[in-house]
Amino acid sequence: MRAAARRIKARIQKELEAKLASPYTIGDSDVLIVVDVQNDFCPDGALAVPRGDEVVPIVNRLGNNFRNVVLTQDWHPSGHLSFASAHPGRAPYDTIEMPYGPQVLWPDHCVQGTSGAAFHGRLQIPQAGLVVRKGLDPAIDSYSALYENDRTTPTGLTGYLRERGIKRLFLAGLALDFCVRYSAEDAVREGFAVVVIEDACRSIDVQGSLAATRTSFAALGVACIAAGDLAGTG
Ligand SMILES: [Zn+2]
Repeated sequence: MRAAARRIKARIQKELEAKLASPYTIGDSDVLIVVDVQNDFCPDGALAVPRGDEVVPIVNRLGNNFRNVVLTQDWHPSGHLSFASAHPGRAPYDTIEMPYGPQVLWPDHCVQGTSGAAFHGRLQIPQAGLVVRKGLDPAIDSYSALYENDRTTPTGLTGYLRERGIKRLFLAGLALDFCVRYSAEDAVREGFAVVVIEDACRSIDVQGSLAATRTSFAALGVACIAAGDLAGTG
């Protein structure tokens, strides 16, 4: 019995030390936002992010640490104006000027109700409390979980997070240099603390987008950590 008591005491001590050592102990005012872990953004998808599927097991493990989890889902009507196919003479990855600013044109992807728009089959976060679908307006793209690409039309997520007393967002998913980046920037703008779990993201890196993302995060004070930096995860 005494040996068992000592083992329990040692374990509690170890857990306490881990919590004190990590500034990233997760509580009720934290949320994990899992961005666009959908088939079309994974290998063999219509807009595959290189090694995008590698985030799935990491994100699944992360989910166990959070009481609050939100999933986002890119969810376009067919013929969406972010698709190169909607602009005769244009090719995917061209940039055009839209009324709200420059817009990269993409292959058709994440069309509502298609298997490409479904979450990756091995994504297992049943405790997620909310799924935010974005990119529904045929004329405006929406990278961010909080605002469409005009940066003024809200998705409603900010209100949800505020009502639930959320103060800090942990972001993971696809792609780091687009939807994760825009979500992080908008969340900072809304006054949330933002932490990007970088090994739980993958990037596309078109036209210097990854370098621009790093510059932006540094300027805004967005912390970039690894999943193992969270207390209680490994
Ligand atoms: Zn999209």
